[in-house]
Amino acid sequence: RARTRLRYVSYQVGRTGAITPVANLDPVLISGTVVRRASLHNADFIAEKDLHEGDYVYVEKGGEIIPKIVGVDTDSRAIDGQRIVFTEVCPDCGSALVREQGEAAYYCPNAEGCPQQQKGRLEHYCGRKAADINIGPETIELLYSRDMIRTVADFYHLTEGQLLSLPGFKQRAATKLLDSIEASKARPYSAILFGLGIRFVGETVAKKLAGAHLSIDALAAATAEELIRTDEIGERIAASVLHFFSLPQNRQMIEQLRAVGIKLEGEATVAPTGDRLAGKTVVISGTFEHHSRDEYKAIVEANGGRMAGSVSSKTSFVLAGTDMGPSKREKAEKLGVQLMSEEEFLRLIEA
Ligand SMILES: [Zn+2]
Repeated sequence: RARTRLRYVSYQVGRTGAITPVANLDPVLISGTVVRRASLHNADFIAEKDLHEGDYVYVEKGGEIIPKIVGVDTDSRAIDGQRIVFTEVCPDCGSALVREQGEAAYYCPNAEGCPQQQKGRLEHYCGRKAADINIGPETIELLYSRDMIRTVADFYHLTEGQLLSLPGFKQRAATKLLDSIEASKARPYSAILFGLGIRFVGETVAKKLAGAHLSIDALAAATAEELIRTDEIGERIAASVLHFFSLPQNRQMIEQLRAVGIKLEGEATVAPTGDRLAGKTVVISGTFEHHSRDEYKAIVEANGGRMAGSVSSKTSFVLAGTDMGPSKREKAEKLGVQLMSEEEFLRLIEA
């Protein structure tokens, strides 16, 4: 935690259009690194702290990468400091900002035409947990600035000639990028769904939705009531999903992804039946990539196993996905119960 002077406030546009205010500071050393910029949370925070330009502020560097402003030293405020008024327009495209009821953030409503939002969506789609395309923001910026990409579907029409025309792009880099784009066609449906960047649909929610609605067509056809029936999906997420599929440009993009062979449906649930799990008691915890939790329950039972809700000395093994509950993990480790990964489990069943 350190005290420094706030020089001015700038604004960033995220891929969903959310506007983040950023404090630009006199450089200050915090736990070994020089901090020049810090998060200002949202408009309410700025109003509540009555921030002025030139104010001395307290900066904190927690576990997050971006330091945060946590307080203002109003006693040492200069008399001539200008009060900070939150911007009313998008810093990138100039659209008037909107604020939805019950939300802290202001949004740029120009989802289709705002360059920062478009580039943000392209970057998000390429993320490791999404389509996993090995490309940096600088290359995306280059491709975007030359009108070679606008939506994520455009990645699949890039040619070697186009890439080689970029400054500093050699044959090896072009081949590597095209291979990586091609490899993204093998990514599971849930990862692609996450990559589409639907607001409020993070990695875990994408897996839940993909598990409950086994293709993107089924998801697009789902009503609000059907969406809310999905485990952990509330009204806010349901409304966002409905809105996404209601936009013609998104439907068009999905058709373009389908045409180039992107996976838009989950793997059919093949529940091999047998007695491989006879006499075994299984606990399932976390989220999974290949099948939903309900499907795994069905697979366990179809193979003679018994499901249990909590870990005990009678548990044979835990089928452990990502984000497994820490208390379950601790208990399993204490009792010496085996944690089996999704892949190990599928190998055991399908062997
Ligand atoms: Zn904008």
